[in-house]
Amino acid sequence: MDVKVFQFNGCKKCFNEALLLKENSLYKVEFISDPKAWKEKKVDISVITGYLLPNDLKQLEIIKNNSDRVIAYGDCTVTGGLFALANQKGHDIMPISNLIEASSSVYGCLGEIEELKLAIDGTDVPKLKSLCQVCSRKATCDYLEEIHRQIEMEDSETCFNDLGFLCSGFTSTECKEKCIDYNTPCRGCKPSIDRSGIRMLALFGTLAGNIEIATEHSVKGATDKLGDDDDDLTDSLPDIVGNFFRFTLPTSGLPKGRIPSSGTLLEDIFIGRLIEEVPLITGLLGGAKSVSLTLKFIKSYEEANQIEVSEQTKKYRNELLQLEKDLQIAINNEDSTKYKEITDKIRFVAGNMNLSNIFFGGFKSIIDTNDDFNEYKAQVFDVVEGNYKNGAIKYAINPDGIITEFKINEGLL
Ligand code: SF4
Ligand code: SF4
Ligand code: SF4
Repeated sequence: MDVKVFQFNGCKKCFNEALLLKENSLYKVEFISDPKAWKEKKVDISVITGYLLPNDLKQLEIIKNNSDRVIAYGDCTVTGGLFALANQKGHDIMPISNLIEASSSVYGCLGEIEELKLAIDGTDVPKLKSLCQVCSRKATCDYLEEIHRQIEMEDSETCFNDLGFLCSGFTSTECKEKCIDYNTPCRGCKPSIDRSGIRMLALFGTLAGNIEIATEHSVKGATDKLGDDDDDLTDSLPDIVGNFFRFTLPTSGLPKGRIPSSGTLLEDIFIGRLIEEVPLITGLLGGAKSVSLTLKFIKSYEEANQIEVSEQTKKYRNELLQLEKDLQIAINNEDSTKYKEITDKIRFVAGNMNLSNIFFGGFKSIIDTNDDFNEYKAQVFDVVEGNYKNGAIKYAINPDGIITEFKINEGLL
């Protein structure tokens, strides 16, 4: 069976993961990193990866007209994904369904290769459980006393939401990368329902029902509108779009953003995000450079704020950086065996290909059971306003820890 994998825009992580299709000798796989230069010919299956813009329509139509089936692989293509956070500032990243009809869609950031193989074979993905059903933490759904942006790593039994730490597991399906196994909340890359962001926002809002919200009256005697004053709830969750709609903004039903663009698409993704959420973003959209991008961000903050980093942390980080280099070689050689071997090693240290285990000061969960975890355990850190720089990455954060300026050499990606 002829399978062509096309990379459109942005991160190439799903495109690279598709190398694993070569493990199946029944597939004759070809990778096309520049769809516009593709000389059209008949294809059995076309797999589309990367985010899509209106001007991709012509090429997508050519691909569709030449293919028996078209499969959308990964959130960028299916829902707009992470990059579509830039739509808040006027960009127009759109789900494939706005452009052409795909035969099937594989959700996820990173898209799951096992599900892609099933889609190629024309087999339905078995009905998935909800993420909470496969989570080792247990939810009580009690009202929250407080909301937290970071949590201590000691408690591994209580639902993140019960700890006041937003987790979108309630509206997600079970997944391969399982951020939740690495003391990391789910941000909803495999939604279980339509408009998952709005529903999760409503659920979390209900749990937060006991927390003070500033209200005002428009008619004397009523409290019928949100107030302009700061309150505990809005202070605790300053980036609603980035946290609740991280992967689904274009399909959320929210109106298009009217915030002025800050410049490049990447700047528009990062500005407005919370500092502690950055590793969860760079770990995904950095493609084959995710590890170095994430560590550059983290290290600049650690150095400026004297966050202690142990020798063991440095050792594991260096191991990851070396693996990233090896991975690039495997990708260049289209060597799926090496790719699998190296990504397994990255998963061992970083938790998963989302790099959920990497954080400021160390790692969020134990890597090797022979280790003393106290030697490299990540710590809850204070937000410190300032300008941060590491090589080609520069950013500034305000007193709430919100990124206000961001510059990056895009050649890094
Ligand atoms: S951002 Fe996520 S969905 Fe998009 S290509 Fe990268 S890994 Fe895949
Ligand atoms: S909301 Fe998150 S932490 Fe809570 S049970 Fe579900 S997946 Fe686990
Ligand atoms: S736990 Fe992580 S990989 Fe799984 S659905 Fe949530 S965000 Fe996606």
